[in-house]
Amino acid sequence: MKWSELPTPCYVVDEALIEKNLEILGGVMERTGAKILLAQKAFSLYALYPLIGRTLCGATASGVYETRLCAEEMVKPAVAEGRKLENHIFSPAYQEKDFEEILRYCDHIVFNSWKQVKRFGCRAKAAGKSIGLRINPECSTQEGHAIYDPCAPGSRLGVTRENFQAILHDREDGYSENADSAELLACLDGLHFHTLCEQNSDALEKTLEAVEEKFGAYLPGMKWINFGGGHHITREDYDIHRLERCIRRMQEKYGLTVYLEPGEAVALNAGFLITTVLETVHNGMAIAILDTSAACHMPDVLEMPYRPPLRGSGEPGEKAYTYRLGGPTCLAGDIIGDYSFEAPLQEGDRLVFEDMAIYSMVKNNTFNGMPLPAIALRRKDGECVIVKEFGYEDFKGRLS
Ligand SMILES: *Cc1c(COP(=O)(O)O)cnc(C)c1O
Repeated sequence: MKWSELPTPCYVVDEALIEKNLEILGGVMERTGAKILLAQKAFSLYALYPLIGRTLCGATASGVYETRLCAEEMVKPAVAEGRKLENHIFSPAYQEKDFEEILRYCDHIVFNSWKQVKRFGCRAKAAGKSIGLRINPECSTQEGHAIYDPCAPGSRLGVTRENFQAILHDREDGYSENADSAELLACLDGLHFHTLCEQNSDALEKTLEAVEEKFGAYLPGMKWINFGGGHHITREDYDIHRLERCIRRMQEKYGLTVYLEPGEAVALNAGFLITTVLETVHNGMAIAILDTSAACHMPDVLEMPYRPPLRGSGEPGEKAYTYRLGGPTCLAGDIIGDYSFEAPLQEGDRLVFEDMAIYSMVKNNTFNGMPLPAIALRRKDGECVIVKEFGYEDFKGRLS
């Protein structure tokens, strides 16, 4: 099928662009020996897991469903090709009802508190898992996106130095009354931090300084350190040399295996959302109503918020015809943004939003009974194939 024949709305993921990203990530792994995992929460298009698993070392999950998806769609096909991949998980709080299943799939289990280590750690260890603790280096390196800052005051994500040491020094805070704290520390194989969001390696460098300052005393006893995600490694201006210096420093100084688990960087700028103009109206400005919705199909546009790139368009006022682009839902704020065009938009025109592979399909919803966009792949020869289409049953099936 040709690009122009795809139905709308439709997400299209471009295999060549994914491979371009994988090459960059593969280069970092090859030069440094670091291990890079896909953070599935950003991009779970499992049709491409076999491809991704040929370069990356595996994937990480936020919960039992993602870890199962990795086992079924990435680890299994790799095993069939004779390669072993890793299946990692982090959750702020594991539940008893899920834990046996998690043990079945995962190799690495990262906990968010000493209490969770006490509750589940021994079982994980006995099952032969590598276990880690997420730390909070309390080093904010970003402004503007407070909801993406796990180092903000009051954060529930990761153990601060104070809480880390509380258990070791047997303080009377309810954690350590009966615990053999040395044993608890000894059972950790690694430390994990995740504090970045769409950032360059200078922010990582600064974060590592905080990690060393606060947790450096414990690093020699560990096997690995996980730098989390938020590394925009495949962005054009990303300083890969600095990243590699950061990796080598932790490898050489502490003898650690270094993991990175980017989500965005794996599928950055590798996907599109094609939409059709349904109607144009006027209210003080030109407005176009599309068959796609910010609220349903690109929720990060409203949550983050950001203005997605739109192929062939300009900033408002830059080209002759400026439109506000919005979705067909009832939400007044279902606005994708203001864009300008060389010619007036016509009913039936197709528009292409860019960088739509990440945090899109994984976050979409059927609010207002909106149909979900189809999912297509563009193969390397330019041919497009639809890998999934949705209908009324997908809307109805989630409700009762
Ligand atoms: C979100 C997340 C990632 C991936 O983040 P990106 O910004 O998509 O690179 C990795 N690890 C953890 C623990 C996360 O919460």
